[in-house]
Parts: sequence; C-alpha cells; structure tokens
Amino acid sequence: MRERGFYIEGGLVSVLTAEPLNRFLDYKAPEGGVFAGAFVMVPLGPRRVLGVVWGVGAGDFDISKVRTIGRVLDVPPMRAEMVEFLTKAAEYTLTPLSLMLRLATRAPGLAQPASMRKILRKGLVAPVKITAARSRVLKVLDDHGGAGFAPSELSALAVVSSSVIKALIAQGAVVEEVAPRDLSYPKLDAEHVGKTLSADQAVAAKTLREAVRSGVYGTTLLKGVTGSGKTEVYLEAVAEALKSGRQALVLLPEIALTVEFLDRVEKRFGQRPAEWHSGASQAERRRCWKAVAEGGAQLVVGARSSLFLPFRDLGLIVVDEEHDGSYKQEEGVLYHARDMAVLRASLCSATVILASATPSLESWANAEAGKYARIDLHERFGTAELPNMDSIDMRSEAMEVNRWLSPTLVGEMKIRLEAGEQSLLFLNRRGFAPLTLCRACGEQIGCSDCDARMVEHRFLKRLVCHQCGASKPIPDTCPSCGVVGKLAAIGPGVERLAEEATELFPDARVAILSSDLAETARALKQRIDEIAAGGADIIIGTQIVAKGHNFPHLTLVGVIDADLGLQGGDLRAAEKSFQLIRQVAGRAGRAEKPGTALLQTHQPEHPVIKAILSGDEEGFWKAEAESRQRAGAPPYGRMAGIVVSGEKEATVFDLARYLARNSQAINQIDAQLFGPAAAPVSKIRGRFRVRLLVKAPKGAPMQKAIKAWLAGVKVPPNMRITVDIDPQSFY
Ligand code: ADP
Ligand code: ZN
Repeated sequence: MRERGFYIEGGLVSVLTAEPLNRFLDYKAPEGGVFAGAFVMVPLGPRRVLGVVWGVGAGDFDISKVRTIGRVLDVPPMRAEMVEFLTKAAEYTLTPLSLMLRLATRAPGLAQPASMRKILRKGLVAPVKITAARSRVLKVLDDHGGAGFAPSELSALAVVSSSVIKALIAQGAVVEEVAPRDLSYPKLDAEHVGKTLSADQAVAAKTLREAVRSGVYGTTLLKGVTGSGKTEVYLEAVAEALKSGRQALVLLPEIALTVEFLDRVEKRFGQRPAEWHSGASQAERRRCWKAVAEGGAQLVVGARSSLFLPFRDLGLIVVDEEHDGSYKQEEGVLYHARDMAVLRASLCSATVILASATPSLESWANAEAGKYARIDLHERFGTAELPNMDSIDMRSEAMEVNRWLSPTLVGEMKIRLEAGEQSLLFLNRRGFAPLTLCRACGEQIGCSDCDARMVEHRFLKRLVCHQCGASKPIPDTCPSCGVVGKLAAIGPGVERLAEEATELFPDARVAILSSDLAETARALKQRIDEIAAGGADIIIGTQIVAKGHNFPHLTLVGVIDADLGLQGGDLRAAEKSFQLIRQVAGRAGRAEKPGTALLQTHQPEHPVIKAILSGDEEGFWKAEAESRQRAGAPPYGRMAGIVVSGEKEATVFDLARYLARNSQAINQIDAQLFGPAAAPVSKIRGRFRVRLLVKAPKGAPMQKAIKAWLAGVKVPPNMRITVDIDPQSFY
C-alpha cells in the first residue's frame, strides 16, 4: 500500500492515468511539490491526459526522458479511502486500475478552471413559430435545464444546427447567460418534518437512524411489500446523515424513477438534491462531481456509477430495489453496484440500506447468515391491501389462434372497465412480435451481425435486433426464398397485445409503457404520471411497470405469460421470475381499492408459480437456497464467466480450448472448469463468442487463480478475453 495524504516536495512522483496503459508512470513533481492524490494533467506522447498522483516515483525510467507534470487541477485531491476503494474494486472485478480511475473521473471538463461561462437556458417568450427542430431544443432545456447548456452541447443533444439556436435566442425563447460554473447545491433542511410514521415504520426508522449515528459500517436489508413505506423510512436515515454532517447517496435502478424521487426529496427536505446519471447535462455532472468532492452536495440521487463519485464524507448509501438486474453493469467494467456499495461503505464507515419487496437471494442469505441486519415492514401503508392472486390455467381456456388474452382475463378486464378502474397487462416483450417467419420456406428473419432474431416494431415500421440495436424496414419479400407476402408475425409483444385489447374494447383508452417508446426520462415519467392520474383504462407494459411506480386506480394485473421466465435454463430464472411477477402483482390495489393479480400459465403446479400465488416468500427462498446449496451455486459457491471473442469462429474456439488445457491455476483451488462452448448468444455485432465457466468453492481465492491462469496467455490483437466475476446473466 502506498502512503497517502502526504506532500511530495520535489523529485519523482508516480502517476496513474485513465489511459489503458495498465501501469504507473513517473513524472517530475512541479516546482513547489504536490500532494499525493492530486488530480493532474500530464504530457503523454503528443497529448495531455488526466491522472492522479499515486505516490513517490519508482525511479525505474530513464531520468532524462521523464517529463514534468503539466498542471495541478483545482479540485480536492483523491482521498485515501477512494484510492483503497478503487484498488479493491479493481482486484475484485479483475479490472485494470486505469479503467477504475476512468469511472471515478467521468465528469466532463474537470480540467477547466472554475470560472464564468456562457450558458443557454429557456427564455420566458415562446418562439414565433414552432418547428420540429425548435421544439426539440425547448424540450432538452425543459428536461435537463438544471445548470444550463453550452451552445454546442445543446445543438448536439437537440440534433439541430447552431442557426436554429441563434434564431431562438434572437426571439428571446432561449436566453444566454453568463453564470459561474459549478455552483454548490442549496442546503437540504434535515429538520424539516417528514410524514407521521406508523408504529412499524417508526421502529424501522429509529433502528436505521441509530445505525447512521453510530458512524460504523453496517448493512441492513429493509424488506417490505410495495407500498409499505420503505422509501419513507430510509428518508429518515438520510435525514440523520444530513444532521450529522455526513453525505448520503441513494441509488435507483432506473432514470425514470430518479425524476419522481427528486420531487419526493424536495417535499421532504425543502430542496432538490444533486443528481448523477447519463441523462443529466455535462455541466450538471461536472457540478455534481465537484460539489460532492468539496462537500457542497449533501445528497446525491443517481445511477450505479455514482458510487465512484469523490464523496468527502459519505455516511449512508441506500440501494433501492436492490434485487434489480440493472445494478450489474454488463459492459466495460463488469461490476455489481450492490456489492460495490457494501465495499465502499465498509471503507468509509458508512451505513448501507438495501431496500426491496423481493430481495435477491444473495442479500436474503447474507441476512440469514447474520452478515446483514434485516428489518421487515409487513403491511402496506394505510388501507391498501395486498392483491388477491390466482392463476388462469391456459390449458383449459378456449383460445383462438393469434390471441393471447384468455376469456377469463377478458371477463375481469370488462368488470374493471365498467367500474372505471384500470387494468394492467404485463408482458416482458418489447415490440409487436418476437419472430418474423416466412410461411413459404420457414426462414426466421435474423440480424446479420448477431445470433438473434429480429423483433418487429410496428410503430417504428421496422425490424429491430434487441442485441445490437440494428434495424431494417419490414420486408414484403422473404430474404431467403424471395416469395412475396408470406412473412408472418409469430408470438406476442406489447404492441400486438395492445392491438388485441383495442379490438376487444374499442372504446377503452389503451396505453403502452415500454422503454423504447419514450424519448427521455422526463417524457417517460410524464407519461407514467398521466396514466397514474387515470389517463388510460388499459395499461400494457414491459418490466418498466414493475419498478416502483404508483398507479392508484389500478385494481387488476394480468400476467400474460407467467411461464416466460421459468424456461431459460439460467441459474436465476426462478428467482427473477418470482421477483418480477410479485413486483408487478404489487402494482394492483395501491389506494383504497383492493386489487387482483391473475397469472396466465400452462403449469399452475410449478413450484415457482405456487410460491408466487401462496405468498410464502420465506418458503420460496428456503427452497431456492437449498437447491443452490446442493449445486454449489452462488451465493453458496462462486462463479466467473470467461468469454473469448473474435472475428473468426475457429480461432476463437482454438484460444478457448488452449485456455481449458492450461488451467492448472484453476484446478489448484479445487475449482471446476466448464466449456468451452458457444455462448448462448454466439455472435454479437459480428464477433463470435465462446464461453468458459469457472465454479469455485465459496472461500476459494478465485480472482487470484484466474489472474494467474490468464497472465500467461498471449491474446492476439483482434481477440478478447472478458472476465465476469459473479455473472448475473449467461448470454
Ligand atoms: P415503498 O417504498 O415501500 O414502495 P413508499 O415509501 O413509496 O413505499 O410509500 C407508499 C406510499 O404511501 C407513498 O405514496 C407514501 O408517501 C405513502 N406513505 C407511506 N408511509 C406513509 C406515512 N407514514 N404517512 C403518510 N403517507 C405514507
Ligand atoms: Zn444484431
């Protein structure tokens, strides 16, 4: 461990850059010296790049070639605790430290001095004439206007030329301002009183407040049905952190929820907190990064990457909907935000709250084992009751061809419509139909770059690959046999379900909620609000409806294909299906009206379906835990996925086989190696993918063994080996 926090007066310093070099570089300290941890710009070849002074230089470069640090940035030096966090996270995920540093410095324009700058904001006057381009500009300003936009950023985000913006400025619809960069955030009022808590909630809040006040690390699983007031309770813990002068971070799985949450914080603490996610403007992100470092931001609400912000004194991390799959980053640095939150908190004596109605088996098991505390909220707040649940046995329903709504479900929907209540149909399939088939030759239209079928999106009038995003117009002619007019859409997606619902209930207002149909987070949120306020009679949604939104008029949830998640062959299929269907069912009956959830299934006797219906959650987890224990699967054993990819199938397999033959390091820790086998999605964006799976006993030093195993392997330049520790999906 290198020493930190000291002042290096002169001589050589060792610098870590965010460039993919995988080693430290020596530089001469600037005149007068520099602090360890200082953010600096250093010359590297012809460029100047961002780096951090890591310690005293190693002195193993030719001294005549060592260059001098260019500039020390005007931001607080990286704290020792952050250095430790990045180092440990890099070791755990087997990621080069330079890539971790990149995650920790993803604030645009950090190197620019804090000065005045020109920004654009929305003016008070409406434009003389509204054109599509002009309305795009105004929309961007409406959605994320926070710290204003630089002119070039605005034209890029709105996809307009600078002349469009100039015209709007001339009319006063957009105004130019000169504003100081990086204003700190208004102070949140920790004394502002919250809602009066129920007895259950009050006990939970008191325990969590005490945990925060203690100032020592600890993790608590906060489990409670949807609507039981988990958010209300953890906001009390946030209040405690603010009171003790420490910072708090709330992680949410989805940007649309962020918008809702910001409003809620404003009501609770009188001001809006800082936000950090990909939808925030560059100026806002930079402002957030700096304010977090300087202590000018008390609370950050954000996506998983906010864990890498330079908090000055982080006292609380909340991971809301902790079971959500999107906490695992599946591209670039492969990390799980829930696990990294626990790591980070343990290094800075912070409290972690993992909130969920349906915890992950990992967290459930950690609570069982006593590693985490656990608090349960048993009741829904107010008079809202849990929905009645039942299955619809599809084997005995009279179904017509190309119809997906059973007569029983349709009957229930009719009752809701007549009562002026809402129904929600849940189907986790975007688009119109998952498969386009030629009835003449049997060809299934696939993506030319991926091993995936293309999905028809009727609104877009295109076929889309959900793997790589490629799309093409829906053809009339079969690309394989050339016969015209024989292509047929097979199977349902939400768009097709909407068509069926409209045919059955022509007077009903049908709304689709699907991530691909909203342009921005705020637009999606607005749509959800309209629907929640009663703007639709029948809501048809993908899994985005499962995530914490409130629909007070909703009294019926129909799960169109409850069997969908049970196949898959994935380790977590049962768990995910259980979580998702319970979450969706929890949308029904949130206000005064009781709700019903109906599951269309071909196997009503399946243990997962039975567990969902009976509501015996502990029973489900115990059974699931036992079966994983027997299999030595996570969380009772460890796994790592190794994916070898490249352009030629044969060479990819050759390298994978070579790895399998030379796996002594893996054998030494009593781990098993499976594969190589073609990955379930064997081709993505034109690259072939072959998988190996390492399965190790729980206590085994898996990362060390994998590192030793791969260290000796020469990877050809056009090929890649990716390691995924604790893989969540096996695609
Ligand atoms: P969860 O996070 O468990 O889904 P929330 O905290 O969002 O639950 O609470 C659900 C709804 O009930 C919210 O609208 C919330 O404002 C309300 N609520 C919860 N507890 C209280 C309370 N003690 N007093 C008033 N309203 C409450
Ligand atoms: Zn594709």
